[in-house]
Amino acid sequence: MLRYLIHLTIITVMLSLFSCHTLQQIPLQNKPIQNLNFANDTLTMNYWGVGCFHIRYKNNEVIADPFISRPSFGQVAFGKIKQDTMKINDALGQNKHVAFVIAGHGHYDHAMDIPHLDKILNNDAIIVGSQSLQNQLSPYHIKHAYVCTSDTTKKIIVNSEGSVRIMSFPSNHASHFMGLHLYHGKMNSPLQKEPLKSSKWKDGPIMSFIIDFMEKDNIEKRIFIQTSSASSIIKKELQMELTGRPPDLYILNYYTLRHDMKHKNGLISLTGDSKIIVCHWENFFRSWDKKIKPLGKWDTIKTLKKLQGIIPSERMIIPIQGSRIEIP
Ligand SMILES: [Zn+2]
Repeated sequence: MLRYLIHLTIITVMLSLFSCHTLQQIPLQNKPIQNLNFANDTLTMNYWGVGCFHIRYKNNEVIADPFISRPSFGQVAFGKIKQDTMKINDALGQNKHVAFVIAGHGHYDHAMDIPHLDKILNNDAIIVGSQSLQNQLSPYHIKHAYVCTSDTTKKIIVNSEGSVRIMSFPSNHASHFMGLHLYHGKMNSPLQKEPLKSSKWKDGPIMSFIIDFMEKDNIEKRIFIQTSSASSIIKKELQMELTGRPPDLYILNYYTLRHDMKHKNGLISLTGDSKIIVCHWENFFRSWDKKIKPLGKWDTIKTLKKLQGIIPSERMIIPIQGSRIEIP
């Protein structure tokens, strides 16, 4: 563990020292969320950083990878991480009628705010995550329905109104840096104490999701969301879904796109004319009141600039935390 942290610190310092690209060179989506109300029927997302999206279409909402709390690097590396309940309440406002809460994997930056959401959301919200994550959440006595994803095949879950359908697909988690993979492993039995150390939040099985907003049996809007940094290997059953009814929107982890740039037949080649939102590119150890910076500064900006050369600007959205994205 200490070795990982030393590596992380050295790399962060080195990347800062050799920075010659600036964030000003990247067009960012930074339209602030001025009014928490979702005013119309447009596919709308409030982005809270990393993989945390509050998505709404018509009257249906989905929250992905709940991580509105933002523990500092010091708390993550050496201290305790706790949910920022006030910040979560502020971020949601009155929008608490959620069909699904989904989590791409069990790391703290993808799932640590689930326990507070469990306290404040509507009773019929369904939480979707791995069995390993459910074991991690055991000390919180989650009262909402929790549906476990499958490690090996796709799983389909529909809300009681039939208006939102979630399909989970096994994915993978690329290494964080230099072949190192932090907090790796499964939580095979229920935790007894609250996971207040970041290391207690194991990744577990990694999932990507298709979110379908339905009107009767019709898919009105389809989103593919992969918040975990994955290599671009796509299994057949996912490929068939993505080509059968192409998503209106792809939400992809920055690292997935970085891997994918080197693979001709990867995810980017499947995206067609759909819009792509790039997530998990920012330094999420910085507190909310500080100016946004990329994670691994120089390298990230360089890669985002390269991506601009591959994906047309009208198709690629790079949001900053606390911004709103509307897809007509
Ligand atoms: Zn992770």
